Amino acid sequence: MSPIDTLVNSTIRPDVRAVASYHVADASGFIKLDAMENPYHLPHHLREDLAQRLADVALNRYPVASYASIKRRINDKLGVPAGYDVILGNGSDELISILCMACAMQDRRATVVAPTPSFVMYQRSAQFAGMDYVGVPLKADMTLDLPAMLAAIREHKPALVFLSYPNNPTGNLFAEDDIVAIIQALDGFGLAVVDEAYEPFAQQTLMRRLPEFNNLVVMRTVSKLGLAGIRLGYMAAAPRLLIEFDKVRPPYNINVLTQVAAEFALDHVEVLNQQAAALRAARADLTAALARIPGVEVFPSAANFILIRVSNSDDVHAKLLAHKVLIKNVSKMHSVLANCLRITVSTPEENSAFLDAFTASLAA
Ligand code: PMP
Repeated sequence: MSPIDTLVNSTIRPDVRAVASYHVADASGFIKLDAMENPYHLPHHLREDLAQRLADVALNRYPVASYASIKRRINDKLGVPAGYDVILGNGSDELISILCMACAMQDRRATVVAPTPSFVMYQRSAQFAGMDYVGVPLKADMTLDLPAMLAAIREHKPALVFLSYPNNPTGNLFAEDDIVAIIQALDGFGLAVVDEAYEPFAQQTLMRRLPEFNNLVVMRTVSKLGLAGIRLGYMAAAPRLLIEFDKVRPPYNINVLTQVAAEFALDHVEVLNQQAAALRAARADLTAALARIPGVEVFPSAANFILIRVSNSDDVHAKLLAHKVLIKNVSKMHSVLANCLRITVSTPEENSAFLDAFTASLAA
């Protein structure tokens, strides 16, 4: 064994060595429908104003540690209930990791429970924090198996239950009553984290119910709203819990450019909301068009992506790549996703280019 391999083996955890890095496909030259981004840029006049604001930022200074001004805008504009506050993450990815780090016990293995398939970072972050992860399979129609979730909660007494609302990669919204039953089942020992990354497209939220439950955490991101590049997530919960999570957060985790860009965008949030409305309309059109294609099963979506099932997903995915269209082949993620593909909803032009390439790929 080479000296560097010996070094890696003696320093890096075996479970870290055993996994691959989070895979991000190279999208240059492709119509990019794989990552649930908002295809719309800020309008030109706003970009010019933003450029000026960014030029004035003091790059030589650390951010103001309290992040009071950006938090105030989030609280005011994004529906955080009175008396509640948020903590910020470098994307909600970082918030998931902060939650796991804060809840991983030292004297025993703490557990994360989540429906599966769901967002892969729940399992990854649990693993890296040294927690056990228990995935509870969705039913064949992608809905939540509530009795199985409640049984897993009784058996494993998880510190954290992650619920993606709507769920990635299936796109559906779990029933609010089922989520409430899970929050109640965790009462006294576990936190229910409702991940509302796709809230702009679902327009359904548990945020307003925070005052009812001590153990509810509502997590969101500005990524899907049109700001994926700035990396900003936020999480609201009982103030007593936020005090603890904030200890685990790296200081200055939100950089000054992100902060100024987010403040600017939230001052013009109506522009982003209009883009989300256009994407909701485009989702309805794309869903209807896909449903008309023989041999394609379309799952209902409350998000900015659509899950479909075809007869040979690998083949269709490869042919779409040849047409320079990048979507996500999720067929190997879990057995309930056999032959499934996930398509991000985009502009009418890109959606129709996708549909042309897709029908050609099915026929070929
Ligand atoms: N939660 C869910 C359900 C997601 O699908 C994603 C991104 N795909 C995230 C969180 C992470 O979002 P970000 O780190 O960009 O805020």
